[in-house]
Amino acid sequence: MNTIALELYRSVPRYLAQRTVGRRLPGLLAGPISSLRLVHRPEPEAPAEGWARVRPVLSGICGSDLTTIAGEASFYFTALVSMPFVPGHEVVGELADDVDGLTAGERVVIDPVLACAARGIVPVCEPCARGEHGLCERVTGGHVSTGLQTGYCADTGGGWSGMLVAHRSQMHRVPPALDARTALMTEPLACAIHAVRRAAVPRDARVLVTGAGTVGLLTVAALRELTEAGPIIAVAKHAHQAALARRYGATEVVPPEEALGALRRATRAFRLHPERSAPFLLGGADVTFECAGSRSSLDLALRGTRARGRVVLDGMPPSADLTPAWYRELEVVGAYSGAGAFTDALGLLDGSDLGSLVSAVYPLSRWREAVDHALSAGRLGSVKIAFDPTDGEAGGSSNGTNAFRPTKE
Ligand SMILES: [Zn+2]
Repeated sequence: MNTIALELYRSVPRYLAQRTVGRRLPGLLAGPISSLRLVHRPEPEAPAEGWARVRPVLSGICGSDLTTIAGEASFYFTALVSMPFVPGHEVVGELADDVDGLTAGERVVIDPVLACAARGIVPVCEPCARGEHGLCERVTGGHVSTGLQTGYCADTGGGWSGMLVAHRSQMHRVPPALDARTALMTEPLACAIHAVRRAAVPRDARVLVTGAGTVGLLTVAALRELTEAGPIIAVAKHAHQAALARRYGATEVVPPEEALGALRRATRAFRLHPERSAPFLLGGADVTFECAGSRSSLDLALRGTRARGRVVLDGMPPSADLTPAWYRELEVVGAYSGAGAFTDALGLLDGSDLGSLVSAVYPLSRWREAVDHALSAGRLGSVKIAFDPTDGEAGGSSNGTNAFRPTKE
């Protein structure tokens, strides 16, 4: 059985071209130099007992997907993926097979980490044995090819397709009350919850959140739900982001160029102006979450945090000048994946309006528009962009012919 899928395939010249033009010309990224292509490919098959097919009904476009498509991801990841792979790790799907207590037709969300349990590795690695499968040390072995997550593994398929396979240990049943858009926020919210836990935010701490896209907004919401943080200063470039950051609990929202000034006033810090480089504070936030994934955002996080304060890397980080981490003795804390936080995320989503952060949904056939939209989401007044792989609509792109209509069965 074939399925329709967006596939990321290796292409060194294209990869290098992307690194050169990158996001400066987003139209090109989804255009002729893209390393994404829409293909018909065989449905992935369950590699072992405990695996089942899942038909994605909504799959988000994440900042890390865009970084990967843009060829801006660190070469570090090349050892953690297998090509070609179908991206898409934020997935709401419908089970196509019965599997261990779940019935075909039920809706599930996928915890994308491909850890020991999914890979059939026995005995499991030490982090998996502790229940911290997000830190699994065996993501290159077992029943499926190398791949840190669904959406980076050649064998499992991914959310940007008509069918993927997942292991029962990756599946969480979606409560009937949650609509698909709200359920789509489960994985990103689980990541935000995990980041907030990693930060161990003290009571009344003064918190800085740099970035107010999906990650930043969910981090603000998780901070208000799960901690007794004091004032939260959020950094937002666009008006709709600022309004949402306030709605989810930010005390003050400022554009990037005013962030250090706001922090200086809120924490009575001193601002210094080095040569040929951005200003920094002596004093500043107790805890900072870097949520934009840009160099300027990470610089701001490092330069706006007080001595011995904590900087949480909430997403795939760019490179940065680590001088403040040394001089101010910062704790730089990574927060990868939402592993272990899915049940809590589903609980928080129940009754929330976070599904409204899904701004636009595209059929796979219109992937170029979708990627362009996601690359410019902030500027266009949008937050989360997603695919509906069940939508066979021809759409407006040059690829939008009936040849790409997904087969439902
Ligand atoms: Zn493991």
